[in-house]
This record gives sequence, structure tokens and C-alpha cells, in this order.
Amino acid sequence: MNRPSPAMPTYTREEIDNTFIILKANQFAVGSTNARERIEKLKKFHRIFLQYRQAIKEAMFLDFRKHAFEVDLTEIYTVTSELKHTKRNLRRWMGKHSTPTPLALIGSRSYIHYEAKGVVLIISPWNFPVTLTFGPLIAAIAAGNTVIVKPSEQTPNTALVMQQIVEEVFEPDEVVLLQGGIETSKILLSLPFNHIFFTGSSRVGKIVMESAAKHLTSVTLELGGKSPTIVDETANIDQAARTITWVKCINNGQICIAPDHVWVYEKVKEKFIISVNLYLKKYYSEDAHKEPSYARLVNENHFKKVNELFKNAIEKGAKVRAGGQSKGEENYMDPTVLTDIPEGTDIMKEEIFGPVLPVQSFQNISELITQLNKKEKPLALYIYSRNQKNIRQIIEGTRTGGTCINSCGIHFFNNNLPFGGSNFSGIGKGHGWFGFESFSNARAVYNQFMPSALEILVPPYNRFKQRIIDLAIKYL
Ligand code: NAD
Repeated sequence: MNRPSPAMPTYTREEIDNTFIILKANQFAVGSTNARERIEKLKKFHRIFLQYRQAIKEAMFLDFRKHAFEVDLTEIYTVTSELKHTKRNLRRWMGKHSTPTPLALIGSRSYIHYEAKGVVLIISPWNFPVTLTFGPLIAAIAAGNTVIVKPSEQTPNTALVMQQIVEEVFEPDEVVLLQGGIETSKILLSLPFNHIFFTGSSRVGKIVMESAAKHLTSVTLELGGKSPTIVDETANIDQAARTITWVKCINNGQICIAPDHVWVYEKVKEKFIISVNLYLKKYYSEDAHKEPSYARLVNENHFKKVNELFKNAIEKGAKVRAGGQSKGEENYMDPTVLTDIPEGTDIMKEEIFGPVLPVQSFQNISELITQLNKKEKPLALYIYSRNQKNIRQIIEGTRTGGTCINSCGIHFFNNNLPFGGSNFSGIGKGHGWFGFESFSNARAVYNQFMPSALEILVPPYNRFKQRIIDLAIKYL
């Protein structure tokens, strides 16, 4: 696809080192700002961000033909709702979090003070370049950090607009956005940040964690994986097909929490596939290629990767039940449904990250759970069912970052829920309070306002003191 790309700026190690030194020198000034000052900063961010709404839409169309409406839904609304949620709650989050006092510590008061970690790094991917860059940035600012942001080089038009926003909102000793690819990332990862918030693939997540270990830098890793969806015999098939088709095709399937593949109870599988086909036509007509609502795969490399997974599945015996056509010169693939895929086929092992939906069948929920638990923990697992026993059995029997019941992907929109994976799909959480917490150090504060009863236990030790500690061990 012939897409104009702005020239990607490059930075020398010296320039990056200097930026880090400036942010480090300013960290205590930023960290000691109060809630009012931080909220003012977020208000300014909010106002300027909205001024760039049209520019973001245009940039994202150039980057991968994303429809303006989808930009509003998944890139603008998600950032403004995070901003509003943070502004509403920040005073409480920054306040003293009192904790109970055990009897043995009578005469004291304790609380948790959430202090800034210091200088933090945010590395983001291309698939939701704005949300996944500015979402963590809001949390980092709310927590009082100075920040370097490194967006993905794969969506250069959007990265340029984000850089303009950052430069307009923040002082250069507060937040700096550095563009660039792996080379810039590598230099940044060699620096002793106080926290790294990385969103991207599990493969690169391991590189980030290894680099962070050298400085004992804490990390939040928001990674990927294969999120399975279960549709049982009691599910509302129409609702399942309607929402799975929608969420699978948003952003052309390039969503970390997309329903990667579906497990449908055998007896309702055909009904489900018929329903998915109906919704595909409803959303994208007979020819999705002509539909402006349907985005493209981000670049030639990614197109090739998804297409290889598709072709390999066909070679191994998978059947095409919807779509199946592609136009490589435009990074276009039909919304595609596959069935009869042998287990062990690449498409059942690797994250698809494109508009191809494998639909497999199952007969026994316990056996399916055992099978799912042999794989890496996914970022999300979705359940379509009206049977409470089945829902409970799946939630209690599996492990995953998040779950929707009778829906998929929408948990991302609730800022009151933690967002993130578990092990292979991630470490740590983002969104709302959980993002603020990730970028903060929970500092324990113990305040002795009366002499402590424990002080009677100072040396020299004797039988009386021994008696007191014996009683404490027994009763306190
Ligand atoms: P990626 O891991 O290739 O790249 C992410 C970032 O890391 C980019 O900024 C890139 O420049 C940088 N990077 C790439 N290789 C690097 C290296 N060797 N050393 C240092 N930095 C490097 O991911 P992507 O292709 O941009 O995004 C897709 C992946 O992200 C998918 O796996 C998806 O599931 C995952 N993802 C996860 C979430 C989440 O919230 N958990 C959200 C979106 C995407």
C-alpha cells in the first residue's frame, strides 16, 4: 500500500543520555507537586488532546486505513475517559491511605503514602498507538513521575502527532516523546529508569525484563497471547456471533484482547457459523474490501505473517467458512472464518492478530478446560453461557488476565477494573487506580505519637520480658 510516512527522527546515545539526565534532575520537583497541580496538568493535556482529534484520525487513516469512527471509539474516548477518571479520583489516590494498627503497636498510626517512582519509560506498540501510549502516560503523570515515551515506529504518522501533543502540553524536563524503532528502544533500555511500562509482544517483553533486571528497574509488561472464547450449549448464539464478529474485526483483528479463536459446543457450532456469516455481511456487506469501516493490516510484514498462518492452516486441512480472499498489495484480508483446524497447526499456536477466526468445537467443558490449561495463560478468556455452573467452573478452573461473560473485549473500557495479563500475557496492571499504583511506590509510614509499649522489651532481656513476649506470641 502506498502510504506516505514522515521521516523518523533518530537520536544519538548522547542525546538520549542528556534527556534522561534532565528528567532525572527534575524528578523531585515533579514528584512533590500536589493533586491540584497534577489535575491542572491533566486538564491541559485533555484540552490539547481534543484539539488534535482530527489530526489523529487523519494520521491513523494514513497508517492503516482505520475508520474515523473507530478512532473515536478506541483511541479518543478511551483516553478522555481515562483522563476524566483520573482527574476525579486523583486527590483520593494521592491522600494518606490509613491502615489499621495492631494492638502490639498501640501508640502509633500507620498509613501508605504513594510516592512517585522517579523517571519512568513507556514503550508502546502500534495497534492502538494513542490509547496504549497516552493511557499509561496519564497514570505516570498522575503519580508524579518524569517520563520518556517511545511509541512504535510502525505507525509513524500517529507517532508524529503524539509528539506534537506532548511537546505542546509538557515542559521538556517533564515528559519527552522520543520516536524511533529498536535502536532507540535499546539505548533507552540500557538506562537506569525507576520503572518501565511496556506494551507489546511477549517476545520483546522478555528483552525488556532482562534489560530492566540489570538496574533492578520494576516493570509493568502488557503483553499478548491467544485469548480463547468459549460458547457453550446454553449461550445466546445471536449475541455471541454479533459481539465476537464485531470485536474480532475492530482494528482489522489487531487487538491484544481480540477473541483469538472460538470453542463452540459441537451441537450449536453450525448455528454459530451461520450467525457469524450474517453479521459479517451486516457489518461489512458482501465485499469488505469496499467498506470504509474495515481497516487494513498495518504493513506488508504483518500481512505476510497473518497470511502465512492462514495458508498453513488450509494446507493442514482447515476449511474456509467465510472470506478467505486477500490483496497483498493493499495489506487486505477478508474477514475469514476457519473450521476443522488440526490442533498443533501454527494458527492454533501463535497469536493471530488479524481478521481470521478459527472456530473449533468441544463436547465436554472439563476436557476443554484441561486442554486450555496446557497453554500459556492468555490475556483474556471469554465465556458465552447462560449456565451459572459452567461460568463458575470456567472462571475457577482457568487462569487469565481478564474475562468477559457474554461479551468480549469490553472490559478494557471499565477504568475501575485492572487491565493486564498474567505471566506470559503480562506482569502488573494498568488503568485507573491500577495504573497509578504501577507508577508509584507504596511507601509505608509508621508514626509513633506515644511511647511504644514494645520499648519495654529493650535489653537486657530477663524472665519478665520473656513472659511478655510469650503472651504476645500466644494472644496477639
Ligand atoms: P512489539 O513487541 O514488536 O513492539 C512493541 C514496542 O517495542 C515498539 O515500540 C517497538 O519499537 C519496541 N521493540 C520492538 N522490538 C524491540 C527490541 N528487540 N528491543 C527493544 N524494543 C523493541 O509489539 P507490536 O508488534 O508493536 O504490538 C503487537 C503486540 O503487542 C501483540 O503481541 C499484542 O498482543 C501486544 N499488545 C498487548 C497489549 C496489552 O495491553 N497487553 C496491547 C496491545 C498490544
